Amino acid sequence: METSRIPGFYNMTVDERRQLLGTMNLFTEENTEYLFSKDPLPTDTADNMIENVIGTFPLPLGLGLNFLINGKDYCIPMAIEEPSVVASASHIAKIVRNTGGFTTEATDRVMTGQIQVVGCPDFNAAKETIMKEKDALIEAANNAYPSLMKRGGGAEDLEVRLLNGESDSKYGQMLILHLYINTCDAMGANMVNTMAESLAPVVEDLTDGKVYLRILSNYPDRCLARARCVIPPDMLQTSDFSGEEVRDGVIHAYEFAASDPYRAVTHNKGIMNGIDPVVIATGNDWRAVEAGAHAHAARDGMYTSMTVWSKDEEGNLVGELELPMSVGTVGGSIRVHPIAKLAHKLLNVDSAQELAGVIVAVGLAQNLGALKALATDGIQKGHMALHSRSVAIAAGATGEMIDMISERLIDEKEIRVGKAKELVEEYKK
Ligand code: NDP
Repeated sequence: METSRIPGFYNMTVDERRQLLGTMNLFTEENTEYLFSKDPLPTDTADNMIENVIGTFPLPLGLGLNFLINGKDYCIPMAIEEPSVVASASHIAKIVRNTGGFTTEATDRVMTGQIQVVGCPDFNAAKETIMKEKDALIEAANNAYPSLMKRGGGAEDLEVRLLNGESDSKYGQMLILHLYINTCDAMGANMVNTMAESLAPVVEDLTDGKVYLRILSNYPDRCLARARCVIPPDMLQTSDFSGEEVRDGVIHAYEFAASDPYRAVTHNKGIMNGIDPVVIATGNDWRAVEAGAHAHAARDGMYTSMTVWSKDEEGNLVGELELPMSVGTVGGSIRVHPIAKLAHKLLNVDSAQELAGVIVAVGLAQNLGALKALATDGIQKGHMALHSRSVAIAAGATGEMIDMISERLIDEKEIRVGKAKELVEEYKK
């Protein structure tokens, strides 16, 4: 992608946007035609993906624009039904690109497999035995999935945790073995599960216990991605608010979320507004990413803000987001779903680490978009203006009627389906 800055994209027709994409380096005309074909996910393909298929469920696919991340431009595919999300992410990305863009980093992609052992005659002795056999266990796990090692990954570490050892514990005592596996560019759930299952018999022998669960943890706290942005206050200025007011409002909003779980849930939902659409568009497991993200937000015992917003010595607004990011660029449905394949082509990422960084940058942008609106005009002004089109469609408006009714709803400050129905009737007369 030459640049993700495409002025006027918002005002183009869908056909014009398609044509423009076709002229860009990474996307052929054939790709764009397929993207908008009548059957982007053929029923036969869908039938092979899940069970009891009766059809497919399309979502709008938009492009998050203006993203400059580690000096590289990205047009970001986002699959989402909620208006204003794509616009807000692109708006913030435009501000941030003028300050040098987002910086991101990601750890190695180390996923966690868990093996649960109960009924050990002596749990401490069992732990000691496992730790003594650590290298042999890691080797055995790698023998169960040799191709990963050939790619430079594989099982690389192991830990043992003892749970519920206290005499008054409500639950039974158990030994939990954590197997840490570098899954390279795959999300790795199936790989981790295969390796964890393969170790079960030898773990039973070593511990004299009984193995029950052998499955990946969706809290991969050794597979983290981080994004950061630094914005001078003058870039945050609006017609009604100074940059300093906006910056301070964002920090107050963050402090509210940091200290109150009721607010943190909504704050974090706004972050996931940016993250989920990219995870979905790239064919990744968004339930896994959601679960891991919320667990990370509660890692210190209280559910809190996923982002941190502060002011540096020069008075700049500084935003940071760190999340576990179990996404892949291969495996699962990524190479099966035709639109996911095109989304990867458009995104042009070389590795799962790079994809993870892009996704957290979008989450950080989305958070700032929401906080900036909340700290100034309120969210409804922008949101309801975009929502008015959905309301007009829900009331039966079609074609040019949609824009006309949407504008009337905004002018009359009544963005309701009932009002839109009245206008549709009026228009038809
Ligand atoms: P796969 O089982 O598809 O494994 C990844 C595949 O990618 C392997 O076949 C591997 O080939 C291939 N591959 C090619 N290039 C690379 C590379 N550079 N790095 C790594 N692998 C490469 O998928 P995952 O194990 O990633 O599992 C993801 C799926 O599992 C998702 O669909 C998810 O929804 C699902 N799932 C999720 C669970 C959860 O709790 N979240 C639980 C169970 C399943 P090779 O075999 O030759 O190495």
